[in-house]
Amino acid sequence: MVVAYRIDQQRLWDSLMKLAEIGSSSPIDQEGITRLSLTKSDLQARGALVDLMEEVGLDVRIDTVGNIIGRWEGTDSTAPAVLTGSHIDTVQQGGIFDGALGVLGAIEAIRTLMEAGVQLKHSIEVVSFLDEEGTRFGTGYIGSKAMAGELKENVFDLIDDDGITYREAFLQANLDPALYKDATRNKGEIKAYIEMHIEQGKVLEEQGLSVGIVTDIQGPLWLDITITGSADHAGATPMNMRKDASLTMAEIILNIETIAKKYDGVGTVGKMTIEPGGVNIIPGKASFSVDLRHVDKVKRAEMVDAVYESVERACQKRNAQYLIDIKKDVDPTSCSEEIIQVLEGACQDLTIPTMKLQCGAGHDSLIMSKMTKMGMIFIRSKDGISHNPKEWSSKEDCATGTQVLLNTLVQLASK
Ligand SMILES: [Zn+2]
Repeated sequence: MVVAYRIDQQRLWDSLMKLAEIGSSSPIDQEGITRLSLTKSDLQARGALVDLMEEVGLDVRIDTVGNIIGRWEGTDSTAPAVLTGSHIDTVQQGGIFDGALGVLGAIEAIRTLMEAGVQLKHSIEVVSFLDEEGTRFGTGYIGSKAMAGELKENVFDLIDDDGITYREAFLQANLDPALYKDATRNKGEIKAYIEMHIEQGKVLEEQGLSVGIVTDIQGPLWLDITITGSADHAGATPMNMRKDASLTMAEIILNIETIAKKYDGVGTVGKMTIEPGGVNIIPGKASFSVDLRHVDKVKRAEMVDAVYESVERACQKRNAQYLIDIKKDVDPTSCSEEIIQVLEGACQDLTIPTMKLQCGAGHDSLIMSKMTKMGMIFIRSKDGISHNPKEWSSKEDCATGTQVLLNTLVQLASK
């Protein structure tokens, strides 16, 4: 079935650029956009989003954790709703498209359908989830976790760089942290969740495609590893008598590369510190982070085991001790096969060439997959850059993805 409702490319682009003005300092491609959750700029953007949803004619409500939800009522108001959206908070000096495209694209798609006088059986809800990025308080997916019943109360004790607790930030934004559980939805109320997002990688660009269909989302597992050796004199201690924490760490880091390649996953050490940090002192302590990802939960567990073994081996060899702390553990997940098929059908109907690909970054969709069928549309990112002022997706690609989203929503909400 070919759906003939065409989204307005320029109107979508204008709405993206207008939202980008909030929290940005010029030039935007150098300074970027900073809208950390519930800060002044985020609150301003949230207000603008509510205004836009109301202007379009959506029924807007804000749930108890601050998720902004714009509902377009279907002909059967008791039928479960199709949810679509993303987030409008950003990282420090982030870009125009991460999150915002998913929210504004969903609004454009529904607006187009409303203007054409279309009526669908299922209601569609555009959701802008609170604090996806987690930059301000160190942990993200707050809105989607609350909706899926996964949020823990201790999140409100977290403190930002200015000493403000999440509880205080909630109260300042007229949200009552005590009511967070009321944001949890019944599984029966939701038919599916579909999110359009920039790819944040280079796969689509390399393949020359505007749009991709996500099959799996990698789950991140973060470790903090501390190696303790002995901080002795660099001149007076022979090589065979050392307990060098830095060399032990180096050996483990190279092993992590080998392990990631062996299991076809990814492994990254992005942070490290060496103590005491003197030119003529053997490093007595080395601490580093490890980020391990795989789309297969079992394979990721095997990668983790291999890292533990490698730490054990390196420490034994160099007479060092270690401590491993698990900082984050999110299960990888697969997108719904049914939604993947609907997305493929939409691309076919629109004669838009596409491909299936995996997703390396975390998204609200990862959390929403715990409660409903989930699908994701990826849009080409220029040079794979994101979380950066230079993040860019073209006007045409944003429109193409939004058109695929529209057709997909029509399919999902029709029957
Ligand atoms: Zn995002």
